Amino acid sequence: MKWRKNQLTQQQKEEQQQQNITMTKEESSFDDTATSSDNNLSSEETTTRPNIVITGAGIVGLVLALAIKKNVGVTPEIYEQSGAFDDGVGNGIGMYPNGLRVIRSISPDLLKKIQQAGYPYLIRRWEKHDGTEIATASESALTDDEELQPLGIRRWKLQKILFDEAVKQGIPIYFRKKVVGIETTTGNQNTISFDDNSKCQASLVLAADGANSPIRNQMLDKLRKEQDPNDPDAEPISELVYTGTTCLYGTAKIPRAERGICFPSSLTTKCHGCFYPTGPDEQCFQFHIPTDPQKYSMAAGWRALQHGLDKAECHELAQDLELDGWDHKYLEPLFQVEQAIKVPFFVLNPPLKSFSYGRIALVGDSAHPPVPYLGQGAQQGLEDAGTLSLILKDMCMDRYGVLNMIHVDEALKTYSSIRVPRTTEILNNSHRWGGVQQLRADSERLGKAKEENIRRDVFFHESIQQILPGVSYNYEEDVANILKKKPLLSVPEATVWC
Ligand SMILES: Cc1cc2nc3c(=O)[nH]c(=O)nc-3n(C[C@H](O)[C@H](O)[C@H](O)COP(=O)(O)OP(=O)(O)OC[C@H]3O[C@@H](n4cnc5c(N)ncnc54)[C@H](O)[C@@H]3O)c2cc1C
Repeated sequence: MKWRKNQLTQQQKEEQQQQNITMTKEESSFDDTATSSDNNLSSEETTTRPNIVITGAGIVGLVLALAIKKNVGVTPEIYEQSGAFDDGVGNGIGMYPNGLRVIRSISPDLLKKIQQAGYPYLIRRWEKHDGTEIATASESALTDDEELQPLGIRRWKLQKILFDEAVKQGIPIYFRKKVVGIETTTGNQNTISFDDNSKCQASLVLAADGANSPIRNQMLDKLRKEQDPNDPDAEPISELVYTGTTCLYGTAKIPRAERGICFPSSLTTKCHGCFYPTGPDEQCFQFHIPTDPQKYSMAAGWRALQHGLDKAECHELAQDLELDGWDHKYLEPLFQVEQAIKVPFFVLNPPLKSFSYGRIALVGDSAHPPVPYLGQGAQQGLEDAGTLSLILKDMCMDRYGVLNMIHVDEALKTYSSIRVPRTTEILNNSHRWGGVQQLRADSERLGKAKEENIRRDVFFHESIQQILPGVSYNYEEDVANILKKKPLLSVPEATVWC
């Protein structure tokens, strides 16, 4: 089943139209195809009342919209390039305490819905490809908070729950709106252009449009030109580069043979994997396979280069792995595959030094595309969303709880100053853990040493050390501590907008 349009009541529509006055007249009727008359925004069609636009209705964009609505009291608009979302599409995703905390602070009911649609891991296992155990740990080591236990969930279910909540909250989501450019005009207003030639204006733009973010690319290009105005051939400030690993990522409608998430590694096939449940009778699998960088030399993100695999290819791979001695519990999902894709991993090189530019902020993969060996990619995006919404609440709302743009530049700098080091640390951990896993697959001698480290970590820390800084983070505490040290800003009452 496809789900797309906002099912808003007439009253909600009217409230939206009051709030989101920057929408052109045609668009604000919730039609997903804007007409060419949207191109010319006149002053009557827009007001200077601050509005927030989010580009991208992925997991991060939706959570961000909900966090902004909850903490800042503004209803953001979301613009999404796809025509619709679909039931059953996409594989699984692991949700961890640090990301679930953001969801719970938006709404404990929302957290419950996600828990009901997902499946708790309870146990984490490190194994060899023949099924031999290296170490086993309880997931309760990752958090003391019973409500925030790690779980696996199908992506479409998570996205649908978030989408439904956004609709319930009256957040408009405009489909078939592919962002192609952004311009900052006088008065610090941003004008976003779409591929259907329509435009919209925003006081604040939050780009949650994924690893290939056109807004980020444009920001970086502008920065490069500002830094080297006389050198049109200057090196890009940062660009997506292929990491050398491609993931075979799929789901199968069979229960996991043993409870929990597990990480086998293989000296015979020189690759490592991850298997986790997304329901009692369903699992997700990932094989991380070193693959020739020449194949993926163009700068594009994983969505652009991912491609589907048919069942025959998965069966063939399973037969090869069987000959290589892989245990049947890892092969069964390939024989019973429901859907699978190949995803090359790309990261930004070098990582960004700032996630904001003027009144534009990057959130989620647009700011920090991950290598997903620790299940922290989306969780970092959720932390971004929670953090940004709390900073805007603290620094940009007047005493009546109304958003005022006067300190927004400072707020975005604060957001960047918290999120750049945090995401860099966690994504570096993920790289390192991917490296450990690959060494286990590459070298018997080093593999043994790494496996000994895993056993030692589990003995002393009850899990591998690389995972702990990611999952144990409390964004609310961090933001509160940092804001406490900042001078108190006085926010004038929201009669004059700037
Ligand atoms: C194999 C694999 C396994 C993973 N496992 C985990 C895990 O277990 N746990 C975890 O936390 N993370 C995991 N991740 C990472 C996670 O998937 C991403 O970090 C997360 O999906 C990023 O969400 P996002 O909303 O920022 O970006 P995206 O999911 O890429 O969403 C971006 C949205 O923006 C839209 N968009 C793009 N361009 C435009 C445009 N020009 N105009 C308008 N809209 C646009 C897209 O259509 C999309 O809806 C994994 C990733 C991979 C590849």
